[in-house]
Amino acid sequence: MKQIYLDNNASSPLDPRVAQAMATVMGAKPGNPSSLHSFGRGARRLVENSRSQVAALCRARDDEIIFSSGATEANNMALYGLAACAKTNQRQILLSPTEHPSVLEPCKRLAAKGFELIWMKVGPDGIVDLVDAKAKLGPQVAFSSLMWINNETGTIQPIEEWANFCAENDVLLHSDAAQAVGRIAIDLDSLPLAALTMSAHKFHGPQGIGALYLRRGVPFSPTLVGGGQEREKRAGTECVFGLFGMAKALEFAVAELAQRREKVSALAKATLRGISAANIPFVLNARAAPRWPGVLNMQFEGQVAESLLMKLDLRGIAVSVGSACSSGSIEPSLVLSAMGLGVKENLSSIRVSFSAMNDSSDVDAFVEAMTEIHDLSR
Ligand code: PMP
Repeated sequence: MKQIYLDNNASSPLDPRVAQAMATVMGAKPGNPSSLHSFGRGARRLVENSRSQVAALCRARDDEIIFSSGATEANNMALYGLAACAKTNQRQILLSPTEHPSVLEPCKRLAAKGFELIWMKVGPDGIVDLVDAKAKLGPQVAFSSLMWINNETGTIQPIEEWANFCAENDVLLHSDAAQAVGRIAIDLDSLPLAALTMSAHKFHGPQGIGALYLRRGVPFSPTLVGGGQEREKRAGTECVFGLFGMAKALEFAVAELAQRREKVSALAKATLRGISAANIPFVLNARAAPRWPGVLNMQFEGQVAESLLMKLDLRGIAVSVGSACSSGSIEPSLVLSAMGLGVKENLSSIRVSFSAMNDSSDVDAFVEAMTEIHDLSR
C-alpha cells in the first residue's frame, strides 16, 4: 500500500538535498565547538557559518540567533527568559487562547508564580481582535505573545500591526513563528519583534533543532545554564549537524518560497474541488481568514475525527486531529474551541497539511479514500 503523508504541519519530510549535505558533516571530524583545538575550531566554524546563514535569511543579526532543540524549547526559553527580567510592576502577559501548548503551558506556570494572563479575544476565524487587544495593552503588561501562522488552521495573525503597536507602547512581543519561518518572507530588520521562535522540521529540515531570535538588547535570562554556549543564553553543546541542516533547509525554503506556496495552494484547492465533486459534505474551518494555503482544517459532519483519522490511516493516508502534540487524546481542539466551534463540530474536524513534496496523486488518493469512507458510513 502506498503511504501518503498529509501531516506536514506536524513535521515535514527532510529534504534529500539537506540530508545529503548533513551526511558530509556527520561523517566528518569530531569536535566540540567549545574546544580550543583545531577540531573544535572546525566545529565552531560550522556553527557560526550556519548561524550567519539563518540570521541573514530572516534579516536578523548573527548574535540575535540562539540555537535550541526546536520550537518548544525556543518558546519556553523566550517566555521564561522575558518574564524573569520583567519589571516588578509589570505582571501581565497578553496572549491569544489559540497559542501552541508550548506557549500556553509555560504561561500557566508563570501565572502560578504571580503573573496574570490577559487573553486576547479571537474571532470565528481565529484572528485576534486587535481593537480589543490594544485596549488590553496597559502599563502592567510585561510582554505579549502571538503565534504568526496557526498550526491547526493556517490562520495568519496581523503580526505586523501588532508588533508595531507593541513597539510604540514599549511592550515586548514574542511570536511563535514555527509555521511561518521557511514559508513566508520574514524580515526581522523591519519588524519590531523582541523574540521569534522557529523550528527546522517545519521547513524540511531535521527534527530536534530550532532557534530563538532574540533582538539585541532585549532583557533576557537563560533557562538552560551551566555552560557559556550561545553567548551565555542557552547552555549545552550545540547540535552541530542539526543546525547545519537547519541553515541548509532554510536556504532552500527561502529560495523556493513562491513556488512551494503555489504548489501547496494548488494541492489544497484540488482537494476542496475533489471532495465537493464527490458530494461529501464538509465545512472548512477559518475559511474567511487570511490563511497559509497549505493547510485545510475541515469538519466532516457525522464523522468522529479520531476514527476518521484511523480509517484514513488504514488506507495509508496520514492526517491529524487537533494539534499533533496532543493527538492520541480526544480532547476538543483548544484552537477550534477558541474560535467558537461547538464540541460536535470540533470533534468532527481533521487537519490535512501539504508540503511541496506532495503531488496531485496524493490528493486523488485522499479524495478516493474519503469517498469510500463517506459511502460506507451512509
Ligand atoms: N509551535 C508551533 C506553532 C508548532 O506547530 C509546533 C510543532 N507542533 C511547535 C511549536 C513545537 O515545535 P517543536 O516540535 O520544534 O518543538
